[in-house]
Amino acid sequence: MGRTARCFVCGSKAVAYVPYLGDYLCREHFVEYFERRVLETLKTFRLVEPGDRVAVAVSGGKDSLTTLYLLKRFSGELGIEVIGVAVDEGIAGYREYKLKALADLAERLGVRIFIGRFEDYFGITLDEAVGVLKEKGFEYKPCSVCGVFRRYVMNKLARELGATKLATGHNLDDEVQVFIMNALKAHIEGVVREGIASATGGEGLVPRIKPLYFVTEKEVLTYTLLKGIQTPFVECPYIVYALRHPVRHWVNEVEDEAPGFKYRVLAVKELARKALPEPPGGVQKCVVCGEPSSKPVCKACLFRAYLDPEFAAKLGGLKLISRLRDEGV
Ligand SMILES: [Zn+2]
Ligand SMILES: [Zn+2]
Repeated sequence: MGRTARCFVCGSKAVAYVPYLGDYLCREHFVEYFERRVLETLKTFRLVEPGDRVAVAVSGGKDSLTTLYLLKRFSGELGIEVIGVAVDEGIAGYREYKLKALADLAERLGVRIFIGRFEDYFGITLDEAVGVLKEKGFEYKPCSVCGVFRRYVMNKLARELGATKLATGHNLDDEVQVFIMNALKAHIEGVVREGIASATGGEGLVPRIKPLYFVTEKEVLTYTLLKGIQTPFVECPYIVYALRHPVRHWVNEVEDEAPGFKYRVLAVKELARKALPEPPGGVQKCVVCGEPSSKPVCKACLFRAYLDPEFAAKLGGLKLISRLRDEGV
């Protein structure tokens, strides 16, 4: 941003360039733009209805904290109740700092936070799980296991708390990155599934919503800085194993060269989603744990069996693990 950048609304000193508007905004008008854009997303796509009890999946990062902050702020106008659900994966030197940031904001907002621990749900922390994955030569990446476990805990916890919606902090950059990764892996079901809201879901699945779907990572960062929403700069130590990491860098490089690239990718994604057939629906109950699953045994139980020989033995051992491979988890 050059020294002469001025807000296009009022002419004051600009704080941010907004690619969607193709122009600069000052502090006041950026905050107004950002909040209005999120509120309009919630209303236009009917992400919530009056009477909803919305559980915000909070990691303690800037995106989820902003989602919590804004939903709480709009709760009166939207007629909703807001609570927070967090997952403690058991990642030493990372999770405790993020949970602290979350506790601080929750107190400031007067929102109750509920925490689910991998150790309590699966009998293993992520750090321990990564030890096992390493021994087995990283046949599965830490983020694959963590993602499946996190979704499981978030959904179960939110449902048990009586939540009617589960809001996540996914922003436009996340959506673009995930779309590109799904496309690279030819994972068509993933492309179709990852929209602004989940299809009404099935028995036991809390419908998911993404209020930050149309704002960029950089805009969220600017907003948190302006509003004093703080989170420590610690990164998950396992990010180095994720394909996400290089994809994110690449997308940002292209965006710098060609502003608006991310919006064009999102547009392609929406067109693709409309053109593709709906994935086969139908939710059943996992025969092992009773949670919703598209297959007789859910992915969380399959991963648990893969990581824990005792759990696998209880379920019929190797036969089950070979199914994990057959299904291409
Ligand atoms: Zn202005
Ligand atoms: Zn299960």
